[in-house]
Amino acid sequence: EKMDKGLEKTRKTFGQMMNELMANFRKVDEDFFEELEETLITADVGFETAMRITDELRQEVKLQNAKKPEEVQNVIVEKLVSIYEENGLEEQNEVNLQSEGLSIILFVGVNGVGKTTSIGKLANQYREEGKKVLLAAADTFRAGAIDQLIVWGDRAQVDVVYGQAGGDPASVVFDAVKRAKDEEADILLVDTAGRLQNKDHLMKELEKIKRIIQREVPDAPHEVLLVVDATTGQNAMVQAKQFKETTDVTGLVLTKLDGTAKGGMVLAIRNELNLPVKLVGLGEGINDLQPFNPSEFVYGLFK
Ligand code: GDP
Repeated sequence: EKMDKGLEKTRKTFGQMMNELMANFRKVDEDFFEELEETLITADVGFETAMRITDELRQEVKLQNAKKPEEVQNVIVEKLVSIYEENGLEEQNEVNLQSEGLSIILFVGVNGVGKTTSIGKLANQYREEGKKVLLAAADTFRAGAIDQLIVWGDRAQVDVVYGQAGGDPASVVFDAVKRAKDEEADILLVDTAGRLQNKDHLMKELEKIKRIIQREVPDAPHEVLLVVDATTGQNAMVQAKQFKETTDVTGLVLTKLDGTAKGGMVLAIRNELNLPVKLVGLGEGINDLQPFNPSEFVYGLFK
């Protein structure tokens, strides 16, 4: 139900636009396809993705000899789901945790997107599942980032490893990995600084953090999760592209889905960047982070 509520705004615009489209056309002709493409673009599904869906639908409609808009609605839904599920990506929707030993997850993303909040929410979930969780405050750059993570650590009832503001993030990570190993922690969540205006610096810093981690845990980090803010629409897409060029991102956390009608961008991210959305933020509370289920999401749009 959380997902349902979180999608309310997106559904209002997306669902409404779709219903209007279906009501305004009596037959599936070229005008219908053009209007459909427009509608999908307006719903932030992304230009390329909208074109692709429309093109594939044209073929399908010919094959099935469908003539009325209501006959193609299901095909549209199936197309949206299959765009998400192709290439076996449906199996990558879950956060990759080691069945034994320490799992390390790096969080990257620019300031304000909801990185700290998402780390806190996830820490709380894992702790409630009975796992031993540790946080590393490796965003030593932004004023207040360390304190903010400590506040979330308190809320989630997990310990936070931190150093001095302005200090070396890699040394914080070094301490955190050591402690996680000593205490036989299950999960270490690492907050990093997101300074995209200086891509070179960011790249070097992340590489250094990874090297430090790999010295202790060779197959880590097990995930590099990029956090993006869904309310920023295409801007989030641009950030995702840039981060993908900077480091090997393994998945996305899409925050503030509750605050936007731009939920359609989940499909754009998947189609244009080939990255799975692993978690979605649906509110500011500690329980407002959910795993992402593509078909539940797409069907939810048409309710
Ligand atoms: P950071 O700078 O990336 O660490 O961002 P924060 O974690 O400090 O979050 C920035 C703001 O976004 C805070 O006011 C959070 O409460 C809010 N926020 C984070 N995630 C969500 C979400 O899923 N939904 C809503 N509505 N707000 C969120």
